Amino acid sequence: MNNSTQGLVVQNVSVAYGKHQALDNVSIEVEPGEIVVILGANGAGKSSLLSTIAGLVERQSGSVSIGGVATSGFRAHQVVSSGLALVPEGRGIFGDLSVEENLTLGAHAAHARVRESEQRDLVYQLFPKLIERRQQIARTMSGGEQQMVAIGRALMSAPDILMLDEPSLGLSPLLASEVFKTLKKVRETGLGILLVEQNAKQSLGIADRGYLLETGRITAEDSAQNLLSDPAVRQAYLGGSASAEVPKTEQPVAAKLSAPAVENTRQRLAGLDRQTPQSADQLAGVNLADWVRNAELKQRESWLSPTQTERPKATDSQTQTGSALDDMLARFEQSARQAANESSEQR
Ligand code: ATP
Repeated sequence: MNNSTQGLVVQNVSVAYGKHQALDNVSIEVEPGEIVVILGANGAGKSSLLSTIAGLVERQSGSVSIGGVATSGFRAHQVVSSGLALVPEGRGIFGDLSVEENLTLGAHAAHARVRESEQRDLVYQLFPKLIERRQQIARTMSGGEQQMVAIGRALMSAPDILMLDEPSLGLSPLLASEVFKTLKKVRETGLGILLVEQNAKQSLGIADRGYLLETGRITAEDSAQNLLSDPAVRQAYLGGSASAEVPKTEQPVAAKLSAPAVENTRQRLAGLDRQTPQSADQLAGVNLADWVRNAELKQRESWLSPTQTERPKATDSQTQTGSALDDMLARFEQSARQAANESSEQR
């Protein structure tokens, strides 16, 4: 694949937080219609990679292109407009808004507003459960349902590439497997999916390909099937247990993994507890809950102003939602850049 193709191409991307090199010369690709998994231990740089692709973290070097368009210098909302959607760790949905309102907010980009009704139909087709729940306040839903709202909201931006950061985190095995099944359905629509997951077995179970990210570097790349059956990968990411249902492959990927990389992963998995999740809002150094609450209040105030006892018509509502959200995104991005600068200055 090269930059002229339709998918996501990340080439030689490096990112540092002050002196800490979080990503070192990382190159990955995601083609339309495939699911690609990034596996890595805590702190390997998985969230940093997604945040960098999404335009939330500045890179030192390297390039990212989506559908052949280089995103160099793009702000986060411009990256969304070029066809990429991120479902952050922790979902980031608007808890006090209904399912329907969350979906509407997902279509704030100009190109997405044009396709809003088409995308909404697609979301309800993928998640029929959300139709009956469309008036339900999002925070009252189960974790799995909220994850579906988060994925649905991301799909409302009509992306070509969908990125998800730990979508199964905090879900029961049953709900997690529902989410993974859903991602298979999303792939059938032709989207490319980049998935960061700690649940290696289930994510490799639905993926086409995978990469191993070790302390900021890609140390292996192979088909999901080969990764699933490779002894070194199983040892590092799947608890080392052999499983009858795992297919045998002729070319174990172990040969492609450096011994220090495997050992490093074993040690990290053995000795480290999960770090505090680093979602996009945390990377930005802002409290997303406050940010969202202010946005919701602002939006509700505009709906309930004395001169306006009814909610505006759909078109007005979309315009207001769009401008309020553009404003929020601009502030969010500014905070992210400020936090990154402060972090660099401290080191
Ligand atoms: P996890 O699975 O625990 O979420 P991860 O693989 O997603 O980890 P990142 O969150 O990308 O890893 O973090 C990579 C490294 O960069 C870690 O050592 C982390 O502490 C560091 N890091 C992440 N964000 C920042 C930041 N804003 N400032 C300084 N260091 C950071």
